[in-house]
Amino acid sequence: MKHIIREWDRLKKALVNKQIALFLDYDGTLTPIVEVPQKAVTPAEIKELLKKLLKSRRCKVAIISGRALGDLQAMVGIKGLIYAGNHGLEIEGPDIKYKSWVSPKLKPIFDGIKRELERRLPGTKGLLLEDKGLSLSLHYRLVDKRQIPLVKESFGQAVRPSLNNRIIKVIAGKKVFDIRPAVEWDKGKVVLWLLARERFSRGDKNVVPVYIGDDVTDEDAFKALKNKGLSIFVGSASAQSRAKYYLKDTAEVVEFLKKILELESG
Ligand SMILES: [Mg+2]
Repeated sequence: MKHIIREWDRLKKALVNKQIALFLDYDGTLTPIVEVPQKAVTPAEIKELLKKLLKSRRCKVAIISGRALGDLQAMVGIKGLIYAGNHGLEIEGPDIKYKSWVSPKLKPIFDGIKRELERRLPGTKGLLLEDKGLSLSLHYRLVDKRQIPLVKESFGQAVRPSLNNRIIKVIAGKKVFDIRPAVEWDKGKVVLWLLARERFSRGDKNVVPVYIGDDVTDEDAFKALKNKGLSIFVGSASAQSRAKYYLKDTAEVVEFLKKILELESG
C-alpha cells in the first residue's frame, strides 16, 4: 500500500484531461470519528473544498455513507452533491433519486429487534440504538469496556432469530453493528452504478474514479474499483485493506483534495 501524496507527481500525469468521479465516505474520512454520531459536523475547510470541487468542471462528487440520507444531507449541507445514504440504499443528487426496494417485513423485524435489545440491555450507559429507516445501527463506542462482551452477546441473541429469513444481514463496523436489508447492494455496487452513469455520458476512457474511505464497508468499493481508478484507505497502511493507496488521517484527506483541485488550474 502506497501513500498517495508521495506518489502524486507520478499519478497525476494519468489524470490530464480526465474527468474525476470522486467518491467520498463521510465519518472517518471527511470528518474525524467522534464519540456521538450527531457531533460529526463537517469542518468548514472541508465544506469550502467540496464546494470548489463541485464547481470545478473536472469533478463529480458523491458522498457515500452508512448514515440515513436525510442525516447525511443535513450533516454536509451542500446542494448539488450526490448523496448516497444507508450504504447506497437511498441516493439523491442532481438528476438522481433512488430508493432500494426492501421487504415489507423489514420494519416489523427491526421493531422486534429493537424491543429485544431494550429488554436485554436496559439502560446500558453509552449504548446508542439508531433507527435509520432502511437500517438499524447499534453504536457501542461509549459503552464501558467491561460491558462490551455482554452487549455483543445480547446483540447476537437479539438478531439470531431473524437471520434465517434472508431479509436482514448484520455487518460489523467501527464500534457499531449495522443491521441491513439482505439485498445485494453495497458501496461497491453503488460506486460502479454511479460510475457507469458518468461514463455513459462522458465516455469510458474519460472518467477516472477516485474512492476514499476508512471502514470495512468501503472495502467493497475498493474491490469494485480494482484496476479501474484510485482507491484510497484512510488510516495507517494496512495489509487488510484492498485499497491500493492510503492517507494517514482526515487532515491528509484535506491535503489530497486540495491536490485534486490544483489539477484544475493546471
Ligand atoms: Mg467511514
